[in-house]
Amino acid sequence: MPRKPSQDPEQVGANFSRVFLVGAGPGDPDLITVKGLDLLERCDVLVYDSLVPPELIERSPAAEKHYVGKTLGGHAMPQDEITSLLVRLAKAPGPPRTIVRLKGGDPYVFGRGGEEAITCARAGIPVEVVPGVTAGIAALAYAGVPVTHRGLSKGVVLLTGHKARGGLPDLPWRGLVDSGLSLVFYMGVTTLSSIARKLILHGMDPDTPAITVQEGTLPGQRQVTGPLHAIARLVTEHGIRPPAITAVGSVAGLSPLLSRQLPRPLAGRIIVFLRAEERHYSEISQLRSAGARVLDIPGIRFLPLTDTPRITDMMRSLEASHVVLLTSSIAAEFFSSLLHRQLAGKQATNSSVAGWQPVMVPTSPSVSSVLVKHGWEVTIQAGTPGWAASLESMISSGLRKGTPVWMPRSTVADDQLPEAVRKAGFLPLPVPIYSSHPVPLSMDVRSMLVHGRVDALVFLAPSCVESVTSSMPEILKGLDTGRTIVAALGPKTRAAITRNGLSCHLVPSEYTVPALVKAILRYFEPGSS
Ligand code: SAH
Repeated sequence: MPRKPSQDPEQVGANFSRVFLVGAGPGDPDLITVKGLDLLERCDVLVYDSLVPPELIERSPAAEKHYVGKTLGGHAMPQDEITSLLVRLAKAPGPPRTIVRLKGGDPYVFGRGGEEAITCARAGIPVEVVPGVTAGIAALAYAGVPVTHRGLSKGVVLLTGHKARGGLPDLPWRGLVDSGLSLVFYMGVTTLSSIARKLILHGMDPDTPAITVQEGTLPGQRQVTGPLHAIARLVTEHGIRPPAITAVGSVAGLSPLLSRQLPRPLAGRIIVFLRAEERHYSEISQLRSAGARVLDIPGIRFLPLTDTPRITDMMRSLEASHVVLLTSSIAAEFFSSLLHRQLAGKQATNSSVAGWQPVMVPTSPSVSSVLVKHGWEVTIQAGTPGWAASLESMISSGLRKGTPVWMPRSTVADDQLPEAVRKAGFLPLPVPIYSSHPVPLSMDVRSMLVHGRVDALVFLAPSCVESVTSSMPEILKGLDTGRTIVAALGPKTRAAITRNGLSCHLVPSEYTVPALVKAILRYFEPGSS
């Protein structure tokens, strides 16, 4: 029999936006579902709160982001304000948009997702849920506890350890004890001693294994195991704090055998990488494998300039004998598009332009690979990175004195390179082809930086330094706490860091991302200082 639609389509506002309640998973950003990630990457509006991994927020290009979690001062937005925000967004005039309400774990497990769905449904807003991996199962799994296990536990009960207004909830304690099922408590750190007492009073063996897992599935995951009668004391002694999950039952006893044992020298470290929006560096995953939590986020966005008089002049004057000197991957990307556009126009009228290109000189292997990716031939490539070596190669390749050297670059580049090109005997022609704009950091990342909870703040470009220090000066306070080291990709970025009043603690000897990643690994490896 076909399923009856849950709502009369007549009643659902035809022009309302659709709301998706998406489960973000328990903390490890890779534990979101494929469907959830897909929605996140194409939504128009994103509403999210504190339990959601910041890495996922960065995956969403949504123009409109609403943070409804705790503020820097620790205040949370009341639930009815969150639901009315969802309704307001969905009913906003204009064409329907895709709204994602991203919630930690699974939206319907202690996340008040049910209330949000009901309010939307009653207001005639189409609402769908995308389930997530809930902390009560995942945090325990990462800590080596299967919540059900043949011969040990026939089932699992997910419980709240906390009433909305505080204190221990009314639970069927006797029934829970008699059931013999695994008991999993969410939000139960402050009430843990009362929970243990209630269970023991209702007949549970005081030696029943128990485990509490803090920040499960995150690099900062910590756990303590012990008998039920001692678990609350152990949790206090080890300074375990929310968010944490507690499991009581024989399955908790499997943790020492099954918890992950791979060596993770950077466990508990938080590293923030500030890079240009368009660039992703796969090498960063090495830090994740070593146990660090890496927030790889855009600090700067580059936008191409279009049809300025100087660009028009460059494209009109460019000849095959001219040099194009490219000092950054972004410049190579944007210049390549300009040239492709120009050639597409010419090809329409003249077939002999196929294969035409100027003398391309990238100043590093990464710039070179951008050119190759777009189909250009790298004409002169120096053996070592840096523009000084490129200039030497240009001279030794026999280029004529006075050859025009076009330098497509950023609007804020300085005169150093044009000056060096002139000294080398060529005609420098700098042309700004893109501008850079700061990208605001999400509230969670700001909060981590301000409260000094980050171990390393890594700048991949001078523009990222300027962007952060000018738009978020409060972050500098967090850097004073002593925990955070500041690292730079190379000397230019280091100069920008010190110019803005910060100390720079780490620069790799070779100015590449893989070398920087290795230097960070070495810096934080136990035993090194
Ligand atoms: N909807 C969420 C739960 C929200 S209630 C889910 O399905 O997981 C918030 C509680 O979830 C926290 O107090 C804590 O008990 C638990 N929690 C959330 N993330 C956690 C994590 N990474 N590790 C341990 N507990 C977590």
